[in-house]
Formats: sequence, C-alpha cells, structure tokens
Amino acid sequence: MKRIAVYPGSFDPVTYGHVDIVRRATALFDHVIIAVTTNQGKPSTFPIDERLTMLRQALRGLPRVTVEAFEGLLVHYLQARKARIVIRGLRAISDFEYEFQMALMNRHMAPQVETVFLMPDERYTYLSSSLVKEIARLGGVVAAFVPRSVSPYLTRLKNP
Ligand code: ADP
Repeated sequence: MKRIAVYPGSFDPVTYGHVDIVRRATALFDHVIIAVTTNQGKPSTFPIDERLTMLRQALRGLPRVTVEAFEGLLVHYLQARKARIVIRGLRAISDFEYEFQMALMNRHMAPQVETVFLMPDERYTYLSSSLVKEIARLGGVVAAFVPRSVSPYLTRLKNP
C-alpha cells in the first residue's frame, strides 16, 4: 500500500521553510499532497489561486508531490484522499502548543490518523510567512527566505 502523506497549511506564501519540510517528507513517504487551506475564518494575504501557483512553481521538479486546495475538516479530506499521515513542521517551542492541540483533536476525530512532525534546517527555524510579508511590506529583501517565483508577489505588498 502506498504511503500518502498530507501536508496542510495556509502557505501564504510558501517559504523555504515549507519547501524544506516537503523535501524531508518526500524522502519518507510515497506521495505527498500539499493541501492549501482556503477559508477557516483566517483571511489570507494572497488568494488561493496565487498560493497554489507559487507552491507549484516552487516545488516543480520534486517528484511525487501534488498541490491542491482544500476546505472543511482535515480528517474528511484525509479520508477522501485515502491518507493516514499528516505532516506538520515544528520550528520552535512556540509552535508546540497549537500543533499538539490540533494533532490530538484530529486523533480524537480519526484515531487512524498519525501526525508526523518534521524539523526544518536550522536556517529556517525563525522563518514564517507573516514575518516575510512584514519585511516585504517595509521594503526589505526577502530573496533568502522564499523561492524565486514568490518574490514578485511579495514586491507587490510594498508600502508606497
Ligand atoms: P498554518 O496556518 O496551517 O499554520 P502555515 O503555512 O503557516 O499554515 O504553516 C503550515 C505548516 O508549516 C505548519 O506546520 C508550520 O509549523 C510549518 N511551517 C511554517 N513555516 C515553517 C518553517 N520555516 N520551517 C518549518 N516548518 C514551517
């Protein structure tokens, strides 16, 4: 049986931290689906189609990876994709509480689902989509933090 892992998130936008996690996941599982959240009361900076485009460009060339939009409960989505593994990235202790809560709630709803936490390269442990957007808004250089295809989208955020 193929081991399908789902990596859910808002990816608003994708950073090198996310890409690092995807690479590690592809080394462990047969297929990795990046599931991009579309709603959940959390307004996004970039619309879903742009977030998908940025991810697909950033992950081009990585085998056995697909990028999809998803809405609703993650456990329902996993069922539909016949997947039992959720991938999440852990950067620091500050991620832990929220991730722990989500993982245990998902386990409560779907006991067969396992959440696997992967740690990125040290270079990316302080990196987040929101920090990168903040730097871009203020006119800083973000080339070291995001794939090349993402930079033009961030440039648009720059305050006049
Ligand atoms: P969400 O809104 O679901 O937290 P994000 O796109 O911010 O969506 O994050 C998706 C997942 O990727 C989360 O598990 C998060 O901890 C992880 N992640 C985000 N940035 C990094 C990074 N720099 N290194 C490793 N994991 C990361």
